[in-house]
Amino acid sequence: MHATDALKEADRLMTVCNSCRYCEGLCAVFPAMEMRRAFTSGDLNYLANLCHACGGCYTDCQFSPPHEFNVNVPRTLATVRAQSYAHYAWPGALAVLFRRNGLFVALATAASVALFIFAFMGAGGAHFGEAVQGTGAFYRIMPHELIAWLFGGVFTFGLVALALSLRHFWRDIGDAAESPLAPRPLWQAIKDAGSLRYLDGGGVGCYNKDEKPDDNRRFYHHLTFYGFMLCFAATSVGALYHFLFEWEAPYPWWDLPVVLGTLGGLGLVVGPIGLLRAKRQRDPALLSEAGAGMDKAFTVMLLLTAVSGLLLLVLRATPAMNALLAIHLGIVFALFLSLPYGWFVHGLYRFAALVRYAQERARDA
Ligand code: SF4
Ligand code: SF4
Repeated sequence: MHATDALKEADRLMTVCNSCRYCEGLCAVFPAMEMRRAFTSGDLNYLANLCHACGGCYTDCQFSPPHEFNVNVPRTLATVRAQSYAHYAWPGALAVLFRRNGLFVALATAASVALFIFAFMGAGGAHFGEAVQGTGAFYRIMPHELIAWLFGGVFTFGLVALALSLRHFWRDIGDAAESPLAPRPLWQAIKDAGSLRYLDGGGVGCYNKDEKPDDNRRFYHHLTFYGFMLCFAATSVGALYHFLFEWEAPYPWWDLPVVLGTLGGLGLVVGPIGLLRAKRQRDPALLSEAGAGMDKAFTVMLLLTAVSGLLLLVLRATPAMNALLAIHLGIVFALFLSLPYGWFVHGLYRFAALVRYAQERARDA
């Protein structure tokens, strides 16, 4: 019935948990599970994407190892979750490439694009080691039209790939009671996702090797998510400035795109470093090897994007600007290209699962 060992194991565990139901107050996974008697592969992918791997149910479970039932819900759902990203991704061939060599492919893409920009600068007569300053300085290195086409193209491709993957996921996790855009469940899901409501192990936090739960993962997730959104807002405001008012970058430090980008960049430095550190502190029994490479690749690419962007901001009036611009643009291009195949999709699938959960709760109420 199920195509993978992880799905078969998840089916077995959900059947055990449905008889036990001790953990029903911990998170959304267990109430969602209780609404089902049998589990399709789509159901299991849905439940897996509701799980935050906090470890609460593993610590509380009377059937976790060394018990013969060998119940380890966080690790099993983490494996199913990671496999679901590749299963629903479009196009599948790129998903396989990124899953096997995530960080390498992303870094190689970043280096290739940076080299292309270096070559372009050389052909255009720009010189390394020469400070280019003032309004429009970036576009004397590389024309705005070329940047817009290059990044608009890869961003559009990423959006299309993400939309098709998400549609595949949404259709596979069961018949929707309503449109995903129905306002009440959508608003409930936005609140739950925005506060990371279920990433708290039932109120005590996430479990680590030292068995002292803490809220660090939630804090660093928040910094990363809101840092990403602020950087996205900075880029959007910059595009509006350019196209609506013909105000060219670089902008002064007090202007909105720079303020948003600086705050977002700081969030994207502290958040990913904290997440990488928090991962090392986790109980290995909770962790799944599946998807660990994708997770690390995305976190490292976010960190490199933020560090190169902040360096470009600080050193933009110096001779280092040319090289830093090429490196930063190369990293951003690789990040955009890898979005549909990296850990970024976990936010989308989790959000879709939360919308479905809110719909099912409202229907059952
Ligand atoms: S994880 Fe263990 S304690 Fe919790 S519902 Fe499942 S079987 Fe019961
Ligand atoms: S979110 Fe936590 S409590 Fe819920 S299933 Fe996942 S690990 Fe268990």
